[in-house]
Amino acid sequence: MKPLEPKANPHIEALQAYTPGEQPQGGGWVKLNTNENPYPPSPKAVEAARAALADGGSLLRLYPSPDSTPLREAAAKLHGYNANAVVAGNGSDDLLNLLIRAYAGPGRSIGMLDPSYSLYPVLAAAQGATVVKVPVKSDYTFDTAEVVKCGAAIFFLTNPNAPLGVAFKVEQVKALAAVYPGLLVIDEAYAAFAGETCADLPKQFSNVVVTRTLSKGHALAGLRAGYALCPLSVAAVLHRVRDSYNLDRLAQVAAAAALQDEAWLSVTVAKIIQTRRRLTDALKALGWKVNESSANFVLAEPVVKGGVASVQAAESAFEFLRSQKILVRRFPNHFLTEKALRITVGTDAEVDALLAAAGVWTKG
Ligand SMILES: *Cc1c(COP(=O)(O)O)cnc(C)c1O
Repeated sequence: MKPLEPKANPHIEALQAYTPGEQPQGGGWVKLNTNENPYPPSPKAVEAARAALADGGSLLRLYPSPDSTPLREAAAKLHGYNANAVVAGNGSDDLLNLLIRAYAGPGRSIGMLDPSYSLYPVLAAAQGATVVKVPVKSDYTFDTAEVVKCGAAIFFLTNPNAPLGVAFKVEQVKALAAVYPGLLVIDEAYAAFAGETCADLPKQFSNVVVTRTLSKGHALAGLRAGYALCPLSVAAVLHRVRDSYNLDRLAQVAAAAALQDEAWLSVTVAKIIQTRRRLTDALKALGWKVNESSANFVLAEPVVKGGVASVQAAESAFEFLRSQKILVRRFPNHFLTEKALRITVGTDAEVDALLAAAGVWTKG
């Protein structure tokens, strides 16, 4: 007799998994679809990982620091925090998951701006929490009062916003923090490319957490490391719900070394911002509609010569770029993004390839 297929919890059976951007395993692609950094990481980060593998990898016999002390201390020093106020995550996605596990669930919803990061609803569904979405306005601002009254136990503010690329003003976020009746999480995945940061807010507000990742600015997406700057009481809660060894030994030391190499970060980010300027201006010169970005990607609406932006035009441009082995990302599920492509700022050569193909498509 065939055994029964086990059924998961009803809310897990109903869950739709997150769809990551395509990660083609063959070579030859210009990959501008998942906001990875096009440059290699700090050599000091690579050296730290290599040092942890010395003596034939003998240290790998031993469990790593349970609370990722090397990474927490480096982050605490960088941002002027007590190390007890910093929690390390296996990527910042791990931290978002821990926050939802601890603060949301049945009867305790999560809130988010719409559009923003589409992982939050998946993490919420896994905990049986519902999602309240507050619309981003068509001028790319949000209404503080709308957020305050959304009733969510935990609200995620992605700043700079993804996929729009725009940054909200620290002054507005601060004003929101002062009146928000739940936990406010500021997801600063793209902070390295923005002019302002909210990294100090958890020092002043007992209901604010800031999450950071090493995946974008620090070029370590393959390592999986992030951290949260927290009020002490929130940090203590997150330590209770995380895995006992949630970061491996290599990730802890490489991420710590990367945070200490501020010179590498400023040089790399300056290059990306320069390329972002060039990409933005060149697409505008083709007649495309482009957001001024505070991140390492631009959201741009393709416009064929003599035409207007449309869903069909965005699909056509996407398919044409794909036929040229250039991958970008589409967000067809929202009226602010359905006519657009999200294009990661790559190297100058990658951006040149994108611009050449975009030029051919635009001329029709
Ligand atoms: C990339 C990204 C993250 C997650 O990064 P990790 O690789 O898990 O550290 C979190 N939030 C947003 C908005 C992102 O774009």
